[in-house]
Amino acid sequence: THFGYETVTESEKQQRVAGVFSSVAESYDKMNDFMSLGIHRLWKDHFVSSLNPGATTPLGQPQRMLDVAGGTGDIAFRMLHHANIHNANPNVHITISDINPDMLAVGKQRSLALPASYQSSLSFLEANAEVLPPQIKDNSLDLYTVSFGIRNFSNISAALKEAHRVLKPGGIFACLEFSKVDKYPLLNAIYKRWSFSAIPLIGQLVAADRDSYQYLVESIEKFPSQEVFRNMIVDAGFAVSGHGYEDLTGGIAAIHKGIKP
Ligand code: SAM
Repeated sequence: THFGYETVTESEKQQRVAGVFSSVAESYDKMNDFMSLGIHRLWKDHFVSSLNPGATTPLGQPQRMLDVAGGTGDIAFRMLHHANIHNANPNVHITISDINPDMLAVGKQRSLALPASYQSSLSFLEANAEVLPPQIKDNSLDLYTVSFGIRNFSNISAALKEAHRVLKPGGIFACLEFSKVDKYPLLNAIYKRWSFSAIPLIGQLVAADRDSYQYLVESIEKFPSQEVFRNMIVDAGFAVSGHGYEDLTGGIAAIHKGIKP
């Protein structure tokens, strides 16, 4: 069954996305490993080291970060680890925000296994990325991350404008998302076969939830190309350097970055 959500309204899409993530919350982390053959871990590690959280000048300055659509905490936990271990800077704060309370609950539970000092650097916030709540003030953040979240948003441009509003001048917007493999037709063919046949099947077998994983595959298909998405980031007011993006694994995923002037 295809959702065919190109014909649905924004609020219908939002409800659908809520249903999908509530039903996958418990199996989400395990499924990521199955579906990506573990590669999502390498992408996330690369994403976080490229942002080098905690590397302030001078070193040890406070840094405020917001991980939007943070789900079960994967990016935030890596950023804390990087800031503390790599840069010896515990003076960071990360808010994990997500629209879905079930995903946040799994993230909170997982965070209890972190060192106590990490836990005090974290907070959790139920929030829609398209309308961030008043706790997140204008010009208040050094870094805004969104990893495998933005393609689920009903209104991507609204979320980009919110990102721009809450970042300080000089603050960084960074997005990790599935993208297009257009530059490599053979890899693209293999990847399409994998995603359209294997992923819904794995979803059915491992999580007894074919429809949610079918939705995930279709949402990847509908997400704009690297260039179109880069242009949306620029339209929201960000400056980009070079192409404005970096392909990972031939474009199966891509990192986009923008800086608020
Ligand atoms: N960032 C995590 C990661 O990289 O593993 C989780 C990504 S998960 C695929 C996508 C998340 O986006 C879900 O937790 C979902 O609830 C969240 N989401 C969807 N629409 C949202 C919105 N409008 N605002 C905030 N979060 C949203």
